[in-house]
Amino acid sequence: MRRNFSRLKLPFFSVSMVFILLICGGWGFLVHRTINQLAVYRLPRPMRDFYWKNRTYLVQQAPRPDVRRNSDPREAPRHFIDLEAYGDSAAWKMPLHWDDAVRQYPMDTLRKYGYVPYEVQRVKGLLTEAFRLRDRDSILFYSADLGHYIGDANVPLHSTINYDGQLTGQRGLHSLWESAVPDVAMDGWSLHDGHRAQYLGDPGAVIWSAVRRANGLVNDVLEEELEASKGMPDSVKYHKERRNGREYRTYTRRFVQDYAGRLGARVHEQLLSSADLIADFWYTSWVDGGKPDLDSLLVTPLDKGDRRARKVEFKAARKDRLVTSRLLMARQQATTGD
Ligand SMILES: [Zn+2]
Repeated sequence: MRRNFSRLKLPFFSVSMVFILLICGGWGFLVHRTINQLAVYRLPRPMRDFYWKNRTYLVQQAPRPDVRRNSDPREAPRHFIDLEAYGDSAAWKMPLHWDDAVRQYPMDTLRKYGYVPYEVQRVKGLLTEAFRLRDRDSILFYSADLGHYIGDANVPLHSTINYDGQLTGQRGLHSLWESAVPDVAMDGWSLHDGHRAQYLGDPGAVIWSAVRRANGLVNDVLEEELEASKGMPDSVKYHKERRNGREYRTYTRRFVQDYAGRLGARVHEQLLSSADLIADFWYTSWVDGGKPDLDSLLVTPLDKGDRRARKVEFKAARKDRLVTSRLLMARQQATTGD
């Protein structure tokens, strides 16, 4: 979740008719889980078996940092950055690294307007240390978390103060872009792009570059919603649902499909970029942590059945058949209600 939506003021006229605000990640649960899984297939051989064997954990825990927001007041600003609040052309002018940022901005400002690119670097440091210590549980913990924050850094609406379209009369846009569109469109997207994890010489520069790219999409995200809404009465754009005695307003499938048709390729590209970057950051952390032997950290080595299953799964990933082979875990979890 981008913010504590429960604290948003609702318009007086619709106190009983609000958007369904999903308890979801920067991306929704579906995408956060999917990008962590896809990153596994982009890793080099020395990392492959360890990450593959632990993929269920990495996928299930992908949304955890959002859940943590409910109990940790320090968590929220780690997921976004309101670039407008940091001044003109902040995406190009802000320091690449946290130590310089805290010299330039008061801590209150950073806490209020967010600092996801710095959080990515902080967690990358923790993961690197976990590798250095050969600490299996911490490697997995920080890998899952790092995947989450990298995913958030790639979401356009995580880089703007107009994070839910609330300043332009487009409230609800946040979950539309990051949850509803992937939900209707993802099964038609290619999830294989041939990327292999690369070493990042300057992770700070790389994550800032991702934030700039995401921020460059904000206008499209807003404008295409306006275009899709043209000539579409609210009765076609929205539908109402009653839950727990309360009436909710959400987008109709027709509207989501229309919006996805206009913008879907860019959502798709951001999903793939996220997965690629997660693999790059995991790999870089492993290299910086001294390239520990991960196979020796497996609780149980891969047996014959594991190796067969791994082979089938990697082939499905390579051939872009994860969805049709029912190997995309986020979809399995969605259908089993996990
Ligand atoms: Zn998040």
